[in-house]
Amino acid sequence: MKNENKGKKKQPAKAKDAPVPAKKQAVVEKSSPQLARVEQPFGCNPPEVHCPICGAPVAEIGADGADLRPCIHAAFVYSSCAGEFVFESGDFSNRTMDMDPDDLDFSEPQKTLSKLGYGNSMLAIQITYGGMACGPVWFTDVYGFDYGTLTAE
Ligand SMILES: [Zn+2]
Repeated sequence: MKNENKGKKKQPAKAKDAPVPAKKQAVVEKSSPQLARVEQPFGCNPPEVHCPICGAPVAEIGADGADLRPCIHAAFVYSSCAGEFVFESGDFSNRTMDMDPDDLDFSEPQKTLSKLGYGNSMLAIQITYGGMACGPVWFTDVYGFDYGTLTAE
Protein backbone atom coordinates (compact mmCIF):
# COMPACT_ATOMS: atom_id res chain seq x y z
CA MET A 1 0.00 0.00 0.00
CA LYS A 2 1.39 3.33 -1.02
CA ASN A 3 1.23 5.95 1.64
CA GLU A 4 3.64 8.47 0.20
CA ASN A 5 1.25 11.33 0.63
CA LYS A 6 0.23 10.41 4.10
CA GLY A 7 1.09 13.13 6.56
CA LYS A 8 2.05 15.55 3.85
CA LYS A 9 0.03 18.67 3.95
CA LYS A 10 -1.41 19.83 0.74
CA GLN A 11 0.34 22.95 -0.45
CA PRO A 12 -2.01 25.91 -0.37
CA ALA A 13 -2.83 27.19 -3.80
CA LYS A 14 -0.79 30.18 -4.73
CA ALA A 15 -2.73 33.40 -4.60
CA LYS A 16 -3.39 34.43 -8.13
CA ASP A 17 -4.64 37.84 -7.24
CA ALA A 18 -1.37 39.32 -6.06
CA PRO A 19 -1.63 42.98 -5.09
CA VAL A 20 -1.27 45.38 -7.99
CA PRO A 21 2.14 47.02 -7.89
CA ALA A 22 1.94 50.57 -6.62
CA LYS A 23 4.00 51.75 -9.60
CA LYS A 24 1.03 51.55 -11.90
CA GLN A 25 -0.90 54.10 -9.85
CA ALA A 26 2.06 56.42 -9.47
CA VAL A 27 2.32 56.81 -13.24
CA VAL A 28 -1.27 57.96 -13.42
CA GLU A 29 -0.82 60.40 -10.56
CA LYS A 30 2.24 61.91 -12.15
CA SER A 31 0.23 63.19 -15.06
CA SER A 32 -1.78 65.51 -12.84
CA PRO A 33 -0.59 68.87 -11.51
CA GLN A 34 1.53 68.71 -8.41
CA LEU A 35 0.52 70.35 -5.19
CA ALA A 36 2.72 71.25 -2.27
CA ARG A 37 0.84 72.33 0.83
CA VAL A 38 2.29 74.45 3.56
CA GLU A 39 0.39 75.53 6.64
CA GLN A 40 2.10 78.13 8.74
CA PRO A 41 1.62 78.01 12.50
CA PHE A 42 -0.96 80.56 13.60
CA GLY A 43 0.46 84.05 13.82
CA CYS A 44 3.44 83.37 11.55
CA ASN A 45 3.73 85.57 8.50
CA PRO A 46 3.55 83.82 5.15
CA PRO A 47 6.93 82.67 3.87
CA GLU A 48 8.74 84.43 1.07
CA VAL A 49 8.10 82.18 -1.88
CA HIS A 50 10.94 81.58 -4.31
CA CYS A 51 10.70 79.95 -7.71
CA PRO A 52 11.71 76.29 -7.37
CA ILE A 53 13.23 76.42 -10.86
CA CYS A 54 15.49 79.46 -10.75
CA GLY A 55 15.30 80.52 -7.11
CA ALA A 56 14.09 84.04 -7.79
CA PRO A 57 11.79 85.51 -5.14
CA VAL A 58 8.23 85.95 -6.42
CA ALA A 59 7.84 89.15 -4.45
CA GLU A 60 10.19 91.63 -2.94
CA ILE A 61 9.10 92.54 0.54
CA GLY A 62 9.79 96.18 1.11
CA ALA A 63 8.60 98.89 3.43
CA ASP A 64 5.49 99.35 1.32
CA GLY A 65 4.57 95.68 1.42
CA ALA A 66 5.09 93.00 -1.17
CA ASP A 67 6.09 94.03 -4.65
CA LEU A 68 5.38 91.22 -7.09
CA ARG A 69 8.27 90.45 -9.41
CA PRO A 70 7.59 86.97 -10.71
CA CYS A 71 10.16 85.28 -12.94
CA ILE A 72 9.31 83.68 -16.29
CA HIS A 73 8.49 80.33 -14.63
CA ALA A 74 5.66 81.71 -12.52
CA ALA A 75 2.24 80.99 -14.02
CA PHE A 76 0.02 82.65 -11.46
CA VAL A 77 -0.31 83.95 -7.95
CA TYR A 78 -3.69 83.66 -6.31
CA SER A 79 -4.26 85.72 -3.20
CA SER A 80 -7.15 84.67 -1.03
CA CYS A 81 -6.85 87.96 0.82
CA ALA A 82 -7.51 89.82 -2.44
CA GLY A 83 -9.84 87.04 -3.62
CA GLU A 84 -8.29 87.09 -7.07
CA PHE A 85 -5.20 86.43 -9.12
CA VAL A 86 -2.63 89.07 -8.42
CA PHE A 87 -0.43 87.72 -11.20
CA GLU A 88 -1.15 85.72 -14.36
CA SER A 89 1.33 84.75 -17.04
CA GLY A 90 0.28 85.18 -20.66
CA ASP A 91 -0.13 81.43 -21.04
CA PHE A 92 -2.19 81.20 -17.88
CA SER A 93 -4.55 84.00 -18.83
CA ASN A 94 -5.01 82.39 -22.26
CA ARG A 95 -6.06 79.19 -20.54
CA THR A 96 -8.47 80.91 -18.18
CA MET A 97 -9.95 83.22 -20.79
CA ASP A 98 -12.82 80.91 -21.76
CA MET A 99 -13.34 79.61 -18.30
CA ASP A 100 -16.37 80.38 -16.18
CA PRO A 101 -15.01 82.35 -13.21
CA ASP A 102 -17.05 80.09 -10.93
CA ASP A 103 -15.00 77.15 -12.15
CA LEU A 104 -11.77 78.80 -11.11
CA ASP A 105 -12.05 77.42 -7.63
CA PHE A 106 -8.68 77.40 -5.97
CA SER A 107 -9.72 75.57 -2.85
CA GLU A 108 -8.80 72.48 -4.86
CA PRO A 109 -5.96 73.73 -7.07
CA GLN A 110 -5.15 70.37 -8.67
CA LYS A 111 -8.67 69.89 -10.03
CA THR A 112 -8.83 73.39 -11.40
CA LEU A 113 -5.36 73.20 -12.94
CA SER A 114 -6.26 69.90 -14.60
CA LYS A 115 -9.30 71.57 -16.12
CA LEU A 116 -6.99 74.24 -17.51
CA GLY A 117 -4.98 71.53 -19.24
CA TYR A 118 -1.96 71.47 -16.96
CA GLY A 119 -0.16 68.22 -16.29
CA ASN A 120 2.61 67.37 -13.90
CA SER A 121 4.82 70.14 -15.24
CA MET A 122 2.68 72.45 -13.12
CA LEU A 123 3.64 72.81 -9.49
CA ALA A 124 1.19 74.63 -7.27
CA ILE A 125 2.38 75.76 -3.86
CA GLN A 126 -0.51 76.37 -1.51
CA ILE A 127 0.27 78.37 1.58
CA THR A 128 -2.14 78.78 4.44
CA TYR A 129 -1.43 81.29 7.15
CA GLY A 130 -3.40 82.93 9.89
CA GLY A 131 -3.27 85.84 12.22
CA MET A 132 -5.39 88.13 14.31
CA ALA A 133 -7.52 90.81 12.73
CA CYS A 134 -10.87 91.48 14.41
CA GLY A 135 -10.67 87.80 15.17
CA PRO A 136 -8.54 84.97 13.92
CA VAL A 137 -8.38 84.96 10.12
CA TRP A 138 -6.88 82.43 7.77
CA PHE A 139 -5.73 82.97 4.23
CA THR A 140 -4.64 80.52 1.58
CA ASP A 141 -2.49 81.75 -1.28
CA VAL A 142 -1.57 79.62 -4.26
CA TYR A 143 1.55 80.08 -6.36
CA GLY A 144 1.83 78.26 -9.67
CA PHE A 145 5.12 77.39 -11.35
CA ASP A 146 5.21 75.93 -14.82
CA TYR A 147 8.09 73.57 -15.58
CA GLY A 148 6.69 73.53 -19.11
CA THR A 149 8.36 76.91 -19.60
CA LEU A 150 11.70 75.11 -19.54
CA THR A 151 10.95 73.16 -22.72
CA ALA A 152 9.20 76.10 -24.35
CA GLU A 153 12.35 78.22 -24.22
ZN1 LIG B 1 11.96 81.02 -12.01
